[in-house]
Amino acid sequence: QARECGGNGYRHYASALSDYARERIVLIADLHRALAEDELVLHYQPQIDMRRGCVIGLEALVRWRHPQRGLLGPDQFIHIAEETGLIIPLGEWVLRHACRQALIWQAAGLPFGRIAVNVSGAQIQRRNPVETVAAILAETGLAADRLELEVTETVVMDLRQEAPAFLAGLKRLGIALAMDDFGTGYSSLAYLKGLPFDTLKIDKGFISGLPEDEASAAIVDAITALAGRLGFKVLAEGVETEAQRRFLLGVGCDLAQGFLFGHPAPAEETTTLLRQPATPPRPEDQGHLGP
Ligand code: C2E
Ligand code: MG
Ligand code: MG
Ligand code: MG
Repeated sequence: QARECGGNGYRHYASALSDYARERIVLIADLHRALAEDELVLHYQPQIDMRRGCVIGLEALVRWRHPQRGLLGPDQFIHIAEETGLIIPLGEWVLRHACRQALIWQAAGLPFGRIAVNVSGAQIQRRNPVETVAAILAETGLAADRLELEVTETVVMDLRQEAPAFLAGLKRLGIALAMDDFGTGYSSLAYLKGLPFDTLKIDKGFISGLPEDEASAAIVDAITALAGRLGFKVLAEGVETEAQRRFLLGVGCDLAQGFLFGHPAPAEETTTLLRQPATPPRPEDQGHLGP
């Protein structure tokens, strides 16, 4: 109803509501404008192979340059985008812009590995979700094997009906697949084994307690060993300290992402990072790890 009132409709309608509801409605109106006026921006965070000392991927993380509120993180608006269906155009915007930026780095000869993009449940539930991704690849010209899509474990488990076909379709296109926030969503390894994921990203909640917290240490050690035997790569999210880095290398988890290696940063800063020569692996990391 309010939408039909035109420009100020949302705000007029909102005056009769609680602060919370008013806030929400204003944010929804703002988000419509953000999409129309390119207020969204992508930051990129490196994913590192700690043994080889190189960047294997860049995760695109969306931010919103809100004209009044400043730079907003995804936790402040993605849930509203999901509830209102705006996640569909937002998700397409993110994928298109990430693919375009990846092509720019590729054309400049900068080694970034893959570009990783987060996909929400609503994007999987829409009609022809695989075709939508294929169309953006075709439109931008990015090769499918330079793209990785991340789906959280929770979404995979919530969408047990839809997710397997979506993932299989992406795999057929040659897109790499990562399960995000692994360890928080109660999937069984038996079920996981049947899905075409390349990488499991261990949720940062398990990394933050390393190396002192014994439960976290045991879980990360076990996940790394089991996932490896099932043929998955394992990446640790949220690595912040040198001690965490050393623990992970010790249990054979070579892939990592976190503030220790780089905060999410705008494209220009990321270009500077990619221009730096790869950090040579430290000799002490090579010794006890074997081939
Ligand atoms: P995620 O995909 O698990 O992304 C990792 C989050 O951890 C990012 O938060 C990142 O900034 C943060 N992070 C990275 N390294 C560290 C670290 O060392 N320590 C700590 N404490 N945090 C670290 P961010 O950017 O706020 O994104 C939050 C979540 O929002 C993402 O979690 C993802 O689920 C979602 N998201 C971000 N961009 C998009 C998008 O384009 N589409 C969708 N559907 N969701 C997105
Ligand atoms: Mg992610
Ligand atoms: Mg995550
Ligand atoms: Mg998360």
